[in-house]
Amino acid sequence: MDCEEALFRLKAGNRRFVRGESLHPHEEREWRRHLTHEQHPFAVILGCSGSQAPPELVFDQGFGDLFVIRVAGNVVSPEIMASLQFAEARLGTRLFVVLGHEGCRIVRAALEENLAAPRPPSGIEGLVRLMMPALRGFGTGSDLDAQLSAAVEANVRWSVQQLIERPEARQPLQEKRIQVVGAVCQLETGGVRFLD
Ligand SMILES: [Zn+2]
Repeated sequence: MDCEEALFRLKAGNRRFVRGESLHPHEEREWRRHLTHEQHPFAVILGCSGSQAPPELVFDQGFGDLFVIRVAGNVVSPEIMASLQFAEARLGTRLFVVLGHEGCRIVRAALEENLAAPRPPSGIEGLVRLMMPALRGFGTGSDLDAQLSAAVEANVRWSVQQLIERPEARQPLQEKRIQVVGAVCQLETGGVRFLD
């Protein structure tokens, strides 16, 4: 499946989900038996661990359809990068989607850490550090909630940038063999907005 077709399939699934017409495809026992020997997920989703935007449900996909990596704040680390490369090299997946979501608590926590006031260690410094390049300039005012939407999008774009800039991706991207896109899920409607 080429990138255009894969993206079309995700968008169509999300439209079904938003309309409340999910098909819950690929859940049949026969289909799952077929997956015991091989898998060819048509898209990789790097999503947030937050419970409000599970990729399979939001895109109305089933077993074997998506290679999902979830980590708080949809950040990129060496392990995440290796998982993505595994999907690309071994499973032949060509479309990569970084999926953030509105109201992300981990992005908000990162904004709080961005405030000048020193605070005791919260145990999430490792994650916050990975998001910091995206969030420079945020968290300086008083109303963090008003900045959260833009911060979520900036954080998605930062992960996309890191996936695009890895040396192994240069040639496949140039030849349009792979595609990396960012997206943000709106929690109330479940609608996914793909970023330009
Ligand atoms: Zn989140």
